[in-house]
Amino acid sequence: MVSQEMYELGSKRSVIREIFEFGKQRAAEIGAEHVFDFSLGNPSAPAPESVKEALLALLTQEDSVSVHSYTSAQGDVQVRQAIADYLNGLYGTNESADRLYMTVGAAASLSVSIKAVAGKGDEVIAIAPYFTEYKVFVESAGATLVVVPAKLDDFQIDFDALEERITERTRAILINSPSNPTGVVYSLETVKRLCALLQEKEQKFGHAIYLITDEPYREIVYDDVDVPYIPLSYANTIVCYSFSKSLSVPGERIGYVLVPTGVEEGEKVYAAICGAGRALGYVCAPSLFQKAIARCLGQTADLNVYKTNRDLLYEALQEYGYECVYPDGAFYLFVKALEEDANLFCARARELGLLFVPSDDFGCTGYVRISYCVPEDRIRRSLPAFKRLAEEYRAETNRV
Ligand code: PLP
Repeated sequence: MVSQEMYELGSKRSVIREIFEFGKQRAAEIGAEHVFDFSLGNPSAPAPESVKEALLALLTQEDSVSVHSYTSAQGDVQVRQAIADYLNGLYGTNESADRLYMTVGAAASLSVSIKAVAGKGDEVIAIAPYFTEYKVFVESAGATLVVVPAKLDDFQIDFDALEERITERTRAILINSPSNPTGVVYSLETVKRLCALLQEKEQKFGHAIYLITDEPYREIVYDDVDVPYIPLSYANTIVCYSFSKSLSVPGERIGYVLVPTGVEEGEKVYAAICGAGRALGYVCAPSLFQKAIARCLGQTADLNVYKTNRDLLYEALQEYGYECVYPDGAFYLFVKALEEDANLFCARARELGLLFVPSDDFGCTGYVRISYCVPEDRIRRSLPAFKRLAEEYRAETNRV
C-alpha cells in the first residue's frame, strides 16, 4: 500500500515536464532545428567564473574532510554570517547567522517556511498567476491554498479581491516579484499598499500574517527597475531566496530562508523553520555549495543575455499583434493566447514547432508562459513561426 495522495503527486508529470519531453521526442523526429522549446526556466547564461574559482579553491586549498563534512542542520555558521553581512551591507539591516537557514533551493525554502507557519485548518494566500508548486507546498503542510487573481491589465495585486479573502484563518501570503510566470515586478506602491493592508488585518485578527517572499529572481531585472526589499516595509516577512537563477546553478540546489530581526517572536519562528526542515529532511544543504556561494555573494551570471532576449522577443511579438504585459524582470513573457483555451492554442503552436506552457496550472486561464532563458539564436529562428501563428489566427477571424 502507498499513500494515495503521494502516489497521485508522483505519478502525474507536471505540464511543463510533459512539454519538455514532447520537445525532445519531436526534435528526434523532425530535427532539433525545427523545434523551438520555450517551456523550461533553466538559466541559459553560464555561471560566472567566480563559481568555478570558488569550487576549485575549496577543492584544492581546503581540508577535504571539512569541505565535504556535514554542516550544522541549519547550515555552516560562517556561510550564514557571510550572507547576513552581505544583506546588511546592501539593505542597511541588522541580520545575523542565527536567523538564516540554508536550504536546497527556493523550493525547500518555501516548503519549510510554509510548514513552519501554517497547518491543518489554516489558509495561505497566493496571487494568481502563481508558481505551480505553491499548491503542492501548501497542501503538503495540511493548509489550504486560497487563490486571489491579480489585475489582468498589469498583473499587480488586486487589493479589493485580496482584502475580501483575508480571514481569521489566513496565516501567510506568498508573493513572487520578479514573477514567474508574468515577469512583472511589484511596484513600490503595490508593496506599500500590501504591507499596510496586512498590518491592518494583523491588528484586526490579533495574530501575525506572514508575508513569504519567494525571491529566486531578485537580481534579474532590467532597465534599472527597483525591486523593493520587503523586510524594510513589513515586519513579519520571511524571505525565501535561491542562488539557482542569479548564479545559474539550479542543479546545485542552494538557497536560504531568512527570518529578519523585525519578525515578532522571531526566535520562535526560526525554531519552527528548523523544525520544519527537520520534519521534511531538509537539513544540512550541500556543504560544498554552501561554502562556494559564500565566496560569490553579490555576483551574478551575465544577465544582459536575458535583456537582449526579452527585447527581441517582446518587440517581435508586439509587432505580430500578440498581447503581453511588459515584463521588467525574471525571464518569462506571459502572453494572451489567441483563442480562449490556452491548451488548444499551445497545441496549435506545437504544430509550428513552438513549445510553451498553458497558464491553467499557474491558476489563471487564457495565457501562455514563454521562457526566454534560451539561446538568442533560438529566438531569432523561431520568429517566423510566431508570425505565422498570429497570421493563421487573424485569417480565421477575418473569415468568420
Ligand atoms: N519559485 C519560483 C517562482 C521559481 O520560478 C522557482 C524555480 O523555477 C522556484 C521557486 C524553485 O527554485 P529552486 O530551483 O531554487 O528550488
